[in-house]
Amino acid sequence: MNTVIKNYKPDFVIFNGEITKFNEARISIMAPGFTFAISVFEGLRGYWNDKKQKLYIFRLKEHIERLKFSIKTIELDTSNIFKNIESQITELVQKNNIKDNLYIRIQIYADDWGSMFSKSPIGSSIISYPRPRADGYYDGRNFAVSSWRRNTEDSSPPRIKTTGNYFNGRLAGLEAIRNGYDGSIILNNHGCVSEGPAGCIFIIREGKIITPSITSGILESITRDTIIKIVKSELKLDVIERSIGRTELYLAEEAFYCGTAMEIIPIISIDRKIIGSGKTGSTTIKVQKAYDAVIFGNNEKYIQWLTPIEFK
Ligand code: PMP
Repeated sequence: MNTVIKNYKPDFVIFNGEITKFNEARISIMAPGFTFAISVFEGLRGYWNDKKQKLYIFRLKEHIERLKFSIKTIELDTSNIFKNIESQITELVQKNNIKDNLYIRIQIYADDWGSMFSKSPIGSSIISYPRPRADGYYDGRNFAVSSWRRNTEDSSPPRIKTTGNYFNGRLAGLEAIRNGYDGSIILNNHGCVSEGPAGCIFIIREGKIITPSITSGILESITRDTIIKIVKSELKLDVIERSIGRTELYLAEEAFYCGTAMEIIPIISIDRKIIGSGKTGSTTIKVQKAYDAVIFGNNEKYIQWLTPIEFK
């Protein structure tokens, strides 16, 4: 389940605050960001509205706020990084001239030659590249509950978007692929649903939309927050945030997986047990439609979530 265009390399990236040719952006092999994963990141999407001839970056401010939280928690010394990060992103997208749906990744890490306790010097990179809509967005995918457990709040907190946390997701994702599934659902240390390797889980049960609470061992997902808000205001439905037991997944009428890169992927079976009709459910389609209107700038109510980029 990936839509990254293989072998695509942008002309330019932002490397340590400067526009740099992609091939010239290099980090030290002794950088703790590399040797100990002392590194945090954000992944954002931008959407190209052809009619308006505008590119909109989705919820840039919220991603920057989450990045600041991750940095604060792992204690990196980043006094200079945030001075003009928003204008750097705008400049990068304009310079690479990507008038298409795209992805942006911001990476902040301990650089140079250091230990796992290094707080400086800090390296940073921002890359943007075209990225099509998520694979499986409309037709749905088959998921499995992983045999791996999610890392916990008192070991390696999933709330922090640190590179190290993705090892857990890798184990779960590889297991799912090996067993012939498209995606994975990871349980927390209480045996309840946490999230997937790169996205959150929603189920619809007896007409109610339910998602694991933010204390279930999840990243505080910006897509999850978006969906909760638009479900309430556009679909006029409530969202219940609570623990979800494994077997409750099998009782769901509908389920979907969501995240910035994953967008909204209908889950049509879990552990080979068919969910609902085995097809993308009607509520999921409504959520997708409402979400699409917001991200492409076609619902004025949410225009404050979009950072427009103009091209010459
Ligand atoms: N959980 C994990 C582990 C993720 O990596 C992601 C993707 N960032 C998400 C959830 C979804 O978060 P967001 O909606 O902010 O992209």
